[in-house]
Amino acid sequence: MPVTRNVAWDGRLESFKGRDTVQYVLAAASMASACAACRAPLEPGEPLSLLVNVTESTAPDGTKYVTFTDCVCHSGCSGPGLSVERGPWAPSELTPVAARMVLTQDSDGVKGRPVPVLAYTLVPVVAFREGGGDLTSALVSVLLFHGFQLALGPDLGGIVGDVAETAASCTVAVDPQGLVTFSIGGRLLFRDRLRPENPDDALWMEAVRSGEHVLVISGDNLFITSGGLDLRHAAAQGTLVIGAVRVHRQAPRFAG
Ligand SMILES: [Zn+2]
Repeated sequence: MPVTRNVAWDGRLESFKGRDTVQYVLAAASMASACAACRAPLEPGEPLSLLVNVTESTAPDGTKYVTFTDCVCHSGCSGPGLSVERGPWAPSELTPVAARMVLTQDSDGVKGRPVPVLAYTLVPVVAFREGGGDLTSALVSVLLFHGFQLALGPDLGGIVGDVAETAASCTVAVDPQGLVTFSIGGRLLFRDRLRPENPDDALWMEAVRSGEHVLVISGDNLFITSGGLDLRHAAAQGTLVIGAVRVHRQAPRFAG
């Protein structure tokens, strides 16, 4: 079994991840905080095993999709593993994970312009196989098609400075009651209900009202927790995409 740093993994993983395999192994290990078998915390440098489940499914249009889920164990609790199964096509099983924050940007002599940020990803990561060749991220390719760009690095300051406006097909809307929606091509990707009486939510809504764009940070392998946002793995794997999405001023037509 191959071992990268302190992480043992199943060599068959390479037939799915190709040249991204080592990066994937390291990212998965660094995102794990507890052993999936004994639940004890993982200490830095401890010998670990990566277990990966691959689900292959075929969409109605014939596209072959591959979904990865993984867990990390102490090497004493489990050896590395890889299981492959064929699953039904069920895109509804994807779970959106999102976070909001407000950054500030100094520009044109204006100090501290607030930049509302929506970080958004889907779990688990879904990829599809192009013509039997390399795996391509489903979410990343949709976003790039609609004018998002790949981020060069995980640094938020750099992202705020580099970001460009996406296609007009992408919109973010926030109604006065706090309903946030993010849509692409008329298709709703994400909705959430903010609480205007919550100070953090109120600050974000005010930042949206005072500007024209929401900085959407998205793609695969974003690590979003209640503790914050970690973009390093997404950037390292080339799956971090960014876009300044225009705020749609009209109230959404559908009922909240
Ligand atoms: Zn363990």
